[in-house]
Amino acid sequence: MLLSFAIFKLSNMNFSELAEYYNKLEQISSRLAMIDILTDMFKKASKEEIRPIIYLTQGVLSPPFEGLETGIAEKFAEEAIARATGYSREIVEDEFKKTGDLGLVAEKFVKEQKIKKIETKPFSIIDVFNTFRKIASISGEGSQKQKIDLLSGLIANANPLEARYIVRFALGELRLGVGDATILEALSKAVTGSRDFKEKLEQAYNICSDLGKVGEVFFNEGKEGIENFKIQLFSPIRPALAERLPSGKEIMEKMGGIASVESKYDGFRAQVHIDKEHKRVEIFSRNLERSTPMLPDIVEAVLKELDIKNAILDGEAIAYNESVDEFHPFQETITRKRKHGVEKVSEELPLYLFAFDILYLNDEPMIEKPYKERREKLEKIVSGKGRIRVTDRIIAKSPEELEKYFDEVIEKGLEGIVAKDLNAPYVAGARKFTWIKLKRSYKGELSDTLDLVIVGYYLGKGSRAEFQFGGLLCAVYNEERDMFETITKIGTGFTEEMMKDLKEKLEKIRVNKKPARVDSLIEPDFWVEPKYVVTVRADEITKSPLHTAGKGIDGSDTGYALRFPRIVSNGIRPDKGPNEATTTKEVIEMYKMQKKIEIKDNT
Ligand code: ATP
Repeated sequence: MLLSFAIFKLSNMNFSELAEYYNKLEQISSRLAMIDILTDMFKKASKEEIRPIIYLTQGVLSPPFEGLETGIAEKFAEEAIARATGYSREIVEDEFKKTGDLGLVAEKFVKEQKIKKIETKPFSIIDVFNTFRKIASISGEGSQKQKIDLLSGLIANANPLEARYIVRFALGELRLGVGDATILEALSKAVTGSRDFKEKLEQAYNICSDLGKVGEVFFNEGKEGIENFKIQLFSPIRPALAERLPSGKEIMEKMGGIASVESKYDGFRAQVHIDKEHKRVEIFSRNLERSTPMLPDIVEAVLKELDIKNAILDGEAIAYNESVDEFHPFQETITRKRKHGVEKVSEELPLYLFAFDILYLNDEPMIEKPYKERREKLEKIVSGKGRIRVTDRIIAKSPEELEKYFDEVIEKGLEGIVAKDLNAPYVAGARKFTWIKLKRSYKGELSDTLDLVIVGYYLGKGSRAEFQFGGLLCAVYNEERDMFETITKIGTGFTEEMMKDLKEKLEKIRVNKKPARVDSLIEPDFWVEPKYVVTVRADEITKSPLHTAGKGIDGSDTGYALRFPRIVSNGIRPDKGPNEATTTKEVIEMYKMQKKIEIKDNT
């Protein structure tokens, strides 16, 4: 018996039990305690319940790449609370202004309910989940009214604690701060009694990006089901990422003397799933959001230009002017699209897909095959004449060849190069030395920006008082610990528009104590659930006793910090979630690289 050691419940778990667990998760302040609570919670789940429980805990109704949302705005949630509890909209609204959390408002008013509660039977997790799915599926005329009816029905049936989480969930602001790695570890413990199976679960997750599905297969088919997990068209694969090294010499050494050295385009990472037989295409971004509607030109082009049955391509979408061989950075394209509309900009700045990998072809998974073989297949199916191209590259056999190509690429206005190990498989969801990037560096600045997670913010003082926003406390992601470690406060680089937007977004994810997965010695004015990522440029990485990034890793008691940090680009990065932020490991590498560059500059 595969799962003889796991005890699965057959009866239904009540939503009230889940709410109790969520409340516990909010109270604790350590990640280990978080894992224990989740493990307990998963142990209570039946085979049918595990999938909805995982989604609910992630704050979603289906894997995030499906983008299924309840579509409930604050004012409709206020209406639903008012209707369910007998208070007026105005009173609900006033209370919301005081606390900034409609979940707490719902909890309070359900506790002090004006309407006499009719006797109801407790609802199960599956009932609540299905009602939310129903709410999400309603669209068109009159849909808001129906959504409010269903939500107020849930609140009217709920006890106060249930009401807190029902309303937060409806608004997409659960504020539990539970990460994917934490869920996987708890699943491993719940089923096998130890964390040892976590890596295998992670591998399955890396090729389907659906935690609910991984949990369900694990509960139903045990270890064997997970070990036999297969790639499926339209389930995105978590993208491979690149390491950094400071010079061609080090890159070529690491690659063993030969590498595919490719242009690094500053575009939009696009994983393109194509079922040509059924004329279906889906495109997923760097953090696996469904981005198909944003890229109609690529959808049309892959169907027209590729001679395949089906495939999954990995590449970079970028606006390109072929006649003058000019690339437009994606930031520019996206800003113009927002202003002038997708259609019009598509004509002016035609998007091309520069494909660099193939992960699936004609019903066959490709990720285990060596890169040279994958690239060969890719070149066979891409004619290179239309909108679908392959990335420009050379096969370099020496640091000189690599550096010469690097200079040519920079001359063209591109970002740098990515060197790839010709014999390596596609390493889904990981940053490994099978891909190494080298970017252009500017004197007196770090050569690369950092993508940091916002964990707290400050109130505005002086001239900032009017925005009630003074700056951010930001962190990097420590993958080994699955924790967010602070690296800097940022008060510079914000436009007025950005400040307004940040304040509005951060208020919605405010929490009243330091989240369990945040490691910080600094107390900001407000803590927030780690959710948003911003791009930051700095002059230098320094050692600092104030921050926890990398603290203790090299035996010393100091962490790493940024000198002169400032926000770049348009504020929050739409294509990265907290787990895609710059990692502690990367910061340490960047610190070492910077030392090497300093030495080089001085010689
Ligand atoms: P960056 O902000 O530097 O793009 P990142 O964290 O998004 O960093 P990295 O793994 O560091 O991602 O760098 C690889 C990224 O570079 C890919 O996500 C992809 O979007 C982009 N890219 C552009 N050209 C290539 C290429 N030829 N091969 C691989 N990635 C490429």
